[in-house]
Parts: sequence; C-alpha cells; structure tokens
Amino acid sequence: MSEIPNIKLNDGNLIPQLGFGVFKVDENDAERVVSEALEAGYRHIDTAKIYGNEEGVGRAIEKSGIDRSELFITTKLWNDDQKNPKDALDASLERLGLDYVDLYLIHWPCEKQGAYVDAWEELGKQREAGLAKSIGVCNFLPKHLDNLLSPGGEPIVPVVNQIELHPTYQQREVTEYCRSRGIEIEAWGPLGQGKYDLFNEEPIAQAAKAHGKTPAQVVLRWHIQEGNIIFPKTSHKERMVENMDIFDFELTDEEFLKIHDLERGNRVAAHPDEVDVD
Ligand code: NAD
Repeated sequence: MSEIPNIKLNDGNLIPQLGFGVFKVDENDAERVVSEALEAGYRHIDTAKIYGNEEGVGRAIEKSGIDRSELFITTKLWNDDQKNPKDALDASLERLGLDYVDLYLIHWPCEKQGAYVDAWEELGKQREAGLAKSIGVCNFLPKHLDNLLSPGGEPIVPVVNQIELHPTYQQREVTEYCRSRGIEIEAWGPLGQGKYDLFNEEPIAQAAKAHGKTPAQVVLRWHIQEGNIIFPKTSHKERMVENMDIFDFELTDEEFLKIHDLERGNRVAAHPDEVDVD
C-alpha cells in the first residue's frame, strides 16, 4: 500500500489527504473503532463535539502510544457554542485528553444566530494561543465566507471548508470560490453517506471492474484525484483497510471525467440555510 499524501494548507501546516471520520460512531464503540483505524494506518481523525464520542477518540489515541506529532486530529465548534468558543474548545480538549487539536472548525454558519463572524475571531485567538494549530469552517457558502474575508485589517483565511460532496453532488460554485482563495476542500459524506445507490452508477462500476477495485475505492480515488481531503467512515476493520487501499492505481482521464459528469445536485443531507441553533 502506498503512502497517504499530505496537502499543504494555506497556513503552512500539512494535513493527510485521507483520514477517518467518526460521525455516528457511538461513544461506547469509539475507542474500539478508532483503535482499529489507527492500527490500520490512519493518522488523521475527524470528530466533533456533537458526535458525542470525543472521549472514546481520546482514549484510543492515548492507548495507541503513537507520537502526538504523527497524528492529525480535527474537532468542531457546535452551533450553540458559537457565542463561547473558548469554553467549547477547552472542553473538547479535556474530553480528547489533548493539549491542542490540529484543526478546529466552525461546524455550521447558523446565519440567523448572527454569531459566526465573532466566533471566527475567537478561533483566531485560539490559534494564536496554540490550542488549535489550524482553523477552518464547515458548510460555509460563498456569502458566509465573504463575511469572514471582508472585515478590515488582515483577515484570517480558513484553511479548509468541509462540505457535503460526492459524485452526484459536487457543489462546484463553492469549491471554485474556495480554491481560488487558497481554501482546501474537505468532502464530507464522500460515499454519499450510503444513502443512495452510488456504487451501481455505471462509470463507477465500470472503473471498479477495469482496475480490480471495489466501487467504494473508485469513488474515494476520484476524490483524491479531484484534490479533495476525505475521511470516510466505517465501523468495520475490513472496510477501513479497503478504504485506505486507493494509492496503487489511478483513474484514467476518461474514467475521471465520466464520474465528474455524474453531478446532478443530489444533496443527501441538510443545506446550510436550513441548519440553525434550534
Ligand atoms: P460517508 O460518505 O463516509 O459514508 C459512510 C457510510 O458509507 C458507512 O456508514 C457505510 O455504510 C458506507 N461505507 C464506508 N466504507 C464502505 C465501503 N468500503 N464499502 C461499502 N460501503 C462503505 O459519510 P459520513 O460518515 O457522513 O462522512 C464522513 C465523515 O465526514 C464523517 O464521519 C464526519 O467525520 C464528517 N462529516 C462532517 C459533517 C459536517 O457537517 N461537517 C457532516 C457529516 C459528516
């Protein structure tokens, strides 16, 4: 298995392009799942306060004995903590048993609450204090990013925008906006959250056959070639290994473009304008 490539963020820090996500991993199972992911070779873990599993993630990290500098740990500021990011990050660090996270993200803009611009300033202070090495956002549309990037002085540019993205929902307007400003794209739900029959889409099934890979591997490989940062979730060890085994083949330009052409606005989860505090 070839090595996982790193992507250089706009603040100079490196992030492994492939990681492991733990949305919907129960706190009771999180230690086992993350321990198995670390054993499989993942070094980048994506969690969030709202997933309710930071303690289990932290126990797995501690028990792994892996040097902290080799790990890349992301957590997120939940919506009703936007008015108090300081306490929220302190509490996440406590649950994780860490002195710092590698990446701290605002989870949703929650526009109606009107707090995300001030919260972003606070995240800047947390970065200054070394509690978060890098800071970014999730589920931000260009209108939200405009508000972060336009205040006077030197704005802090988020290192990533983590958005729903899979072959039939690519959010190209958002990705173009971000990439033109040095903001990397993290694709959540890279496999469509298993909510539709992605794996039987013809270009995916065909490429899988041609390369002797599974459809899941083809989709994940497509993300890698798109330049997306991904962290597919699974609770099964075999799939953890399968989802990492995507660096020994390459989709041809034709295969890549056929998957790219599957775009049809097929959002499977919430839209940023629908998510607010209550
Ligand atoms: P995903 O696209 O990673 O789908 C996960 C599902 O895909 C699994 O439950 C399983 O059913 C299936 N799967 C995984 N590997 C497979 C394989 N090899 N073969 C067949 N099926 C397979 O969806 P996700 O978990 O929602 O997204 C990944 C991560 O993104 C999350 O765990 C979380 O860390 C993050 N996320 C962030 C947000 C956000 O708002 N910022 C929202 C959702 C998820």
